[in-house]
Amino acid sequence: MTSPVHRVPAGVAGATAGSPGQHRAKHIFVTGGVASSLGKGITASSLGRLLKARGLRVTMQKLDPYINVDPGTMNPFEHGEVYVTEDGGETDLDLGHYERFIDENLSQASNATTGSIYQAVLAAERRGDYLGRTVQVIPHITDEIKRRITRLGNHGTDVVITEVGGTVGDIEILPFLEAIRQFRNDVGRSNVCYVHVTLVPFIGPSGEQKTKPTQHSVTELRSRGIQPDAIVCRSEQPISDSLKRKISDLSDVPVAGVVNAPDAGNLYEIPLILHEEGLDDEVCRILGIEGACDTSAWEALVSRVEASTTPVKIGVVGKYVSLPDAYLSVAESLRHGGFAHRAKVELEWIQAEDVEGLLTEGRLRHLDGIVIPGGFGERGIEGKIAAAGYARENDVPCLGLCLGMQVMTIEYARNVLGLTGASSGEFDRSSPHKVIDLMDAQRHVVDMGGTMRLGTYPAKLRPGSQVAEAYGETLVYERHRHRYEFNPAYRSRFADTGFVCSGVSPDDRLVEFIELEGHPFWVGTQAHPEFKSRPDRPAPLFRALVGAALERAEGRRPHLLDVDALPVAGR
Ligand code: GLN
Repeated sequence: MTSPVHRVPAGVAGATAGSPGQHRAKHIFVTGGVASSLGKGITASSLGRLLKARGLRVTMQKLDPYINVDPGTMNPFEHGEVYVTEDGGETDLDLGHYERFIDENLSQASNATTGSIYQAVLAAERRGDYLGRTVQVIPHITDEIKRRITRLGNHGTDVVITEVGGTVGDIEILPFLEAIRQFRNDVGRSNVCYVHVTLVPFIGPSGEQKTKPTQHSVTELRSRGIQPDAIVCRSEQPISDSLKRKISDLSDVPVAGVVNAPDAGNLYEIPLILHEEGLDDEVCRILGIEGACDTSAWEALVSRVEASTTPVKIGVVGKYVSLPDAYLSVAESLRHGGFAHRAKVELEWIQAEDVEGLLTEGRLRHLDGIVIPGGFGERGIEGKIAAAGYARENDVPCLGLCLGMQVMTIEYARNVLGLTGASSGEFDRSSPHKVIDLMDAQRHVVDMGGTMRLGTYPAKLRPGSQVAEAYGETLVYERHRHRYEFNPAYRSRFADTGFVCSGVSPDDRLVEFIELEGHPFWVGTQAHPEFKSRPDRPAPLFRALVGAALERAEGRRPHLLDVDALPVAGR
């Protein structure tokens, strides 16, 4: 198998800072209170973007209090998408926000869970590293947490933003709060800033916005020895200056540090909202960072987002559609693809298990484009195959991602090549035509955990193909997370019929991209290009899909000038 390209993450590359005794990096800790899902990850990412706009080298990480070693084994229905980094880390979806906002490739070092921290401590204990001492939460677990935090700041980074998952008051979060409390003493007060994200709810019957939950949450944080330096108050509607003063009085945070983030029309506006509220000024004042913030590039992006109004309907046919966070990067990539064409992508979540409804009730008929995303297991497979067939026969632009490419291959094998019962070894071990299967090397490995192809791999694209045209180059790098592959034994049968294996591994053994001659856009990739898409540099295949969908919607070519003005992700 081709070896992965393990690049040094850009955010932590470069000159090394001094020894642990003379920390150069400044640290910002973002905690959350009152309720989960307040957008703490987006707040942290937005702050990261504002600091980058001051010319600082920023990196980010997430500390997750749950016990799983990483989110790779967690159910997307419950936890949302597993985000994959360049170096093959299976990480929390907040890392996707971080990468999209600060525009840096992060590594698996940017996500630590309670499970991974205990795993490291227990391995050290088994090696005898603790020399017979009693191993305890304080100091051993907290020291390991601090080691993870310090590690990120050791590579010439100016600012490390660490988001602590969960909500203050949770039992599991305590070792993390203790570690970040100690950290301030370890590295000096002027090097650390605590930002606390809370909720100011509107209580309908009294017609008022309430500060009490914020007050309680700050009290809880202070009971752990952490006095916040800034409070980001999430609210439905803007909060008044007098309410800010009240929060300031109650929490001992100067008014300048009480920042309001009301619900925004679009995600990418949030850095500008926080900037207007003065969050980055206050954080920089606390950390002694000088210099001005140049938000012009981000403002240009937000203007482009606001000008993206031409509607285009894209259906995502998946099995986790009841929790759209399961496809967060796919949804964002589609939006990015839209921005490139000044189009507003209207997403429709379509349940793949409802095969009947998909075809007989015409649930796909009004769509301008279809995405078949990745996934594991057999559920919903027949619906996805049906959707791929519908798109193929009706000239509907369709993009298959990982499992999506595999079902497109199966559909074509069954309905065009006449290979009855064609399937993937993942769903039907006894299929007479396993057009998707494990590669020989993997077949004998009993521990499936070891067989996943994870992280960035290169692919050669066929010159002149739709994918080469979309990427504008013929050597591309995309992130992977799968076990099964296009079965090379069937490659020639497909190739004779207009089904083009338009991208392959450099040694030609693995099929990485497929497309169909004569179809406006029926493209699949074994990779997950959604992980590299950025709002101002859409992943090429998403940009191309939206372009083809717009053509179908409007019966006209999109303005190529607008499209070409934007660089693409992945370089
Ligand atoms: N289940 C498929 C495999 O393991 C596809 C995985 C995915 O879509 N990420 O190969």
